[in-house]
Formats: sequence, C-alpha cells, structure tokens
Amino acid sequence: MSAMIPRTENRGPVYNVVLDIDEVLTTCDPIQTLDEALFFKKRGSILTAVKTHYVFPGVLETINWLYGMEDVRTSFYSSGSQERNRAFVEGLLERSLPEEACSRAKREVCILSKEDLNEFGKKDISRVLRPNYSGDHIENTVLIDDRPANFVPEQSRNFLFVPPTRGDAFALLRRKKDSYGEEGFKFLKCGMTTEFFADYSCVREPIDQGKKLYVVKRSGGAFDLHFLDRISNGYRTAPISTEMHQPLVSSLENIHQESLDQGFVISSVDDQETLQNLYDLVGSMGGKTQTICHRANRIYYVAGLLSTALSEARNKQIPLTHSLCSLQSERIAKESGDVPVKNFKESPRKDRYYHLGLDVLRNVNQDLELINPHNYEQSIQGGIPPEEAARLQELIQNVWE
Ligand SMILES: [Mg+2]
Repeated sequence: MSAMIPRTENRGPVYNVVLDIDEVLTTCDPIQTLDEALFFKKRGSILTAVKTHYVFPGVLETINWLYGMEDVRTSFYSSGSQERNRAFVEGLLERSLPEEACSRAKREVCILSKEDLNEFGKKDISRVLRPNYSGDHIENTVLIDDRPANFVPEQSRNFLFVPPTRGDAFALLRRKKDSYGEEGFKFLKCGMTTEFFADYSCVREPIDQGKKLYVVKRSGGAFDLHFLDRISNGYRTAPISTEMHQPLVSSLENIHQESLDQGFVISSVDDQETLQNLYDLVGSMGGKTQTICHRANRIYYVAGLLSTALSEARNKQIPLTHSLCSLQSERIAKESGDVPVKNFKESPRKDRYYHLGLDVLRNVNQDLELINPHNYEQSIQGGIPPEEAARLQELIQNVWE
C-alpha cells in the first residue's frame, strides 16, 4: 500500500495503541476452499509468519491510519511466540506502509509476546511504556483485544473490547445472501406484542441494541411502533395513526389476532407487504430499519471507536482511557475504579462506529467498503488461474498442527 495520510503535528501527549494479533487483525483458522483464500488475497492479505495468516479486510488500512498520526504510537502484544509475532508484524508493516515509514516502524516497534505476559498470564500494557520518556502515560494507553481474560484487572479502563473475528465470519456470508439487499444491508426483524409485555427485556433489549423493531398493541386498541432512533441512538416509540394508515392497521389487526389465536403473546410480523410498510414508516421517522454485518467488519468498529475516543481526548484534553471508557459503556462512564467488562459488549453492536471507521479508513483507501454477502461473492467471481491456484493451495495447507 503506498497511500499514507499526512502525519499530524504532535504538540500534546502520546497515545499508545496496543494491538492484539489473533482474531483481531488476522486468523490462522484453517480455511476449506480456494475461493476463501482468493477473498482474503483480494480484500485483505495472506501472510506467512511461520504458518499462514489471513489478514482481515481493512486491517492494512488501519495500520496505515495509525502510523499516519504523529501523536499515536502503535505496539503489538500477543501471547504467541516471539518468532511468530515478529514475522507477522514485519509482514504487516511491509504491506501497510510506504518503504521509508516501514523501515522506521520496523526499527522502533514494540512487540510483546508470550514471554512478556505477567505472572498470571495477562497482558500488562504498562510494559509498552518507555522508561524515561515523559510523553508516555498509562492513562493514554489502550489495549485492543478480543479476550477480556487477557487484561490486567486494574487496567480495565484501558481495554478496547472487540469481539473475535474467526475465519468463518466471511465464508458464512455466502449463505446469508438472501437476507441482504444489494447495498449490503439487512432488514431488521419485526416483532409484535402487547403493551403489557413491551417492557420485558426480551422485547426491550433487541430494540435497544438496534437488532429488531416492534409493533405494540395498546390496551386501548391502537398500535405503537417501538424502534431505535438512528441519530440519537435512543429508544423511541410512536403511534401508528389509524386514519393515515388504515390498510396497514387492518393487516396488523389480522396478524395480531392470528398470533393470539395460536397462543402467542409475542410473535413476529412476516408478511412482506406489511413489513415493507412498517419499514417505510419507521424510516420516515428517522428510525433504524436496516443493519450491517458486524461479524465481518470488526476492524471498522475498532477504527470508528478509537478515532472517536482519540478526538475526544485531544479536544477535551482528557486521558484517552476516560473517553474510551465512556464510549464503550455510557452507564458506567462516571463511576471510578475497575470496570466490569461485560458492559463493553454494548458498543460493538452499534452500526455508527462501523460507518465512522469506514469513513476514517477511506482516507487511506477510497475503494474500501464494508463486507457483505454481495461483495464477498464479487471478490471470488471469475475463477483462479492455475498457477495462482497452486500457490494458494500451498498456503492453505500451511496450518498449525
Ligand atoms: Mg486475540
């Protein structure tokens, strides 16, 4: 990759970004077909570091973006062997950075390995800080990792949790082609229930998480919509006007009655025409009706969340851990002390960080797009020339025993 966004001038603190390797940037999970290998070759990268590593789409751009910021210092911390980690990181830097920046990065980069875990087998990120370097501070240091078990409890506020990306996250997309539109979005499922059940967590939570919307029948007989607002990302309800939407209300009456007859107090709306009308209505009110595939695009989440946290830390002149922690869990933002990491699992479900990440990384590569079943399919169309097939086959076979 030759593009590199200009380095910003550093006048303030250094932000230490510490990256885990496996299931965050890459996977060694064995893959089954040449098509899958071709996908990584075209959209991400395939790299040999002792064994074959499949680098996720968007990762090379993320590295380029991180190294383009003068106030960010990037390090790597993996419980793999030193030999593997060094080979992987060097290969990654070579593919992500222009030659000169790459040579400098290779000389200076801090890579911590299995030997550098603490006595409890955890990643103590104070180990990346440079002694006698006044710009480094633990409060401006973050560990980006997929395993909550990896961080030192006292460093929970330094933790950016990203759910693991396994090798099958991409190949499985092919099976989901029908549920995604050509633009790469999937319509949310729509449930139906009564006012009495609307506050139950099984109804409330999927709406809060942007996974579902609900039609709720009030005790008075009218219907309400319960959905997530796209802008505020907050829970919203709105009535469906019987006068303005008579045909829709009639079909909802029928669906509601049918599910009651079958003994369901919580059911789903499956009729395509009714669904489309509901999506149009929710969409016209600024509500969320579609979602992206999160599993195949985690690195964009990382870039989106981290760029937001960095901007806040710079603009408000607060420690990076403060901005990061409050973005990951609004509920516990104001509490001090250790943070229960289960609270960090809310934000990886928020589409907006994935879109933000895409915007940030498009400054490095304007052709980037979020991965969806349709562009996965496009990447592997056209077949593989025989000489390339032989090489890919060799790579596929180079797996850990
Ligand atoms: Mg990992």
